Amino acid sequence: MTHASSTSSLHDIVSCMSDYDPHALPVAKAQDIIAQFIAPVQAIEKLAIRQALGRVLATDIVSGIDVPAHDNSAMDGYALNGSDLPATGIRDFNIVGTAFAGRAYHGDVGAGECVRIMTGAVMPASCDTVIPQEFTTNASEAQVGIPAGKVRTGDNRRLKGEDLANGKTALQRGKILRPADLGLLASLGVAEVPVQRRLRVAFFSTGDELRSLGEPLDEGCVYDSNRYTLYGMLSRLGCDIVDMGVIKDDPAELEAAFRSACENADAIITSGGVSVGAADYTKQIMGKLGDVAFWTIGMRPGRPMAFGKIHSQGKSAYLFGLPGNPVAVMVTFYFFARQALLHMMGANAAPLPLIPVISKTAIRKRPGRTEYQRGILTTNASGELEVSVTGSQGSGILRSMSEANCMIVLQHDQDQVSAGDKVTVLLFDGML
Ligand code: AMP
Ligand code: MG
Repeated sequence: MTHASSTSSLHDIVSCMSDYDPHALPVAKAQDIIAQFIAPVQAIEKLAIRQALGRVLATDIVSGIDVPAHDNSAMDGYALNGSDLPATGIRDFNIVGTAFAGRAYHGDVGAGECVRIMTGAVMPASCDTVIPQEFTTNASEAQVGIPAGKVRTGDNRRLKGEDLANGKTALQRGKILRPADLGLLASLGVAEVPVQRRLRVAFFSTGDELRSLGEPLDEGCVYDSNRYTLYGMLSRLGCDIVDMGVIKDDPAELEAAFRSACENADAIITSGGVSVGAADYTKQIMGKLGDVAFWTIGMRPGRPMAFGKIHSQGKSAYLFGLPGNPVAVMVTFYFFARQALLHMMGANAAPLPLIPVISKTAIRKRPGRTEYQRGILTTNASGELEVSVTGSQGSGILRSMSEANCMIVLQHDQDQVSAGDKVTVLLFDGML
């Protein structure tokens, strides 16, 4: 159902690459091909700002007012003219009025005079400085002692338009709206914003051995966990999801599932059935329905992955055929699908930040592939961040993902890691 139109076929894109080898594709190259092939979906809806949390802004938002609208006080204290501040000692000032937030003082303020002022109150004309209450002495209704050397001219005054000036771009199109952005929009008086419509992503699991929750676990079978991790990852990304369940290894069922997904969604994510020895029909049907590449990626875990675009009944959808192993599904989702889905959503999302930290232990690694190990990041006695690997790193061991608080990313060219070396990590949790 996508309206995206990529101008080149996958074949066109890879034929421009000097050393494209689908059987030994470095991670960066696969990411590059995906980025070139994916196009954003164009459709906009207008939402009240609260509903727009987590959504992708579809236009620039230009401020129609100055925020703040007036110079105002940053402190509770006394407003005066800075040129009147004493050079030495303490000088008594006459208090000629009070300025409250939302209720300004409109009178004059002469030499030797000041106005009692509250935080957020408009600065009286001819005042440019606020001395906080705690620096003053002997305050009465009529007078206050103001000492030298506590403030300089202009201190504790917020300037008109210093947060946002009238006519200035407040938020850029493509921004994923966070709590601060909702507040910013409200501060501009903006009640509704245009956002990109949610991306619709259909997903299903493939494999005769998979059982859905509630079914008995027959011999040699496993419960389908991938649909649940995918549900979690896609929900957090803000996608509209279509969970199509487990599809058996039957050509007619698989074809029907791919067609239905294609007709109803912008992107399709499957797990399982894409490895070299896969004894099922998944790859065959993917290939039959569109422009799909089958890759062996230089990574661990992960390796097999299908990517492309399939077509059915005049509709098309991007396809991510992820491997079946539960950890591999998460790694390939985060390092390939995530960025592509964000791009389809029209989001200007920076790549995930990798942080250099100390490795507590040696890690076996050979150059020529990217490795994603599950790590636990802690702070040592000197306050430095250091990481250790969670127990077993098998690609089927989902517990390793659950226990970890970060992913250790060992880059393509990296060799063995010794204890004390720097490695890069991707944090699982951050401020949202
Ligand atoms: P495959 O990529 O289909 O060869 O699957 C690789 C491994 O992942 C096999 O051990 C599968 O049983 C397992 N697997 C595949 N899909 C799932 C799933 N949805 N949930 C849990 N394990 C799975
Ligand atoms: Mg399978």
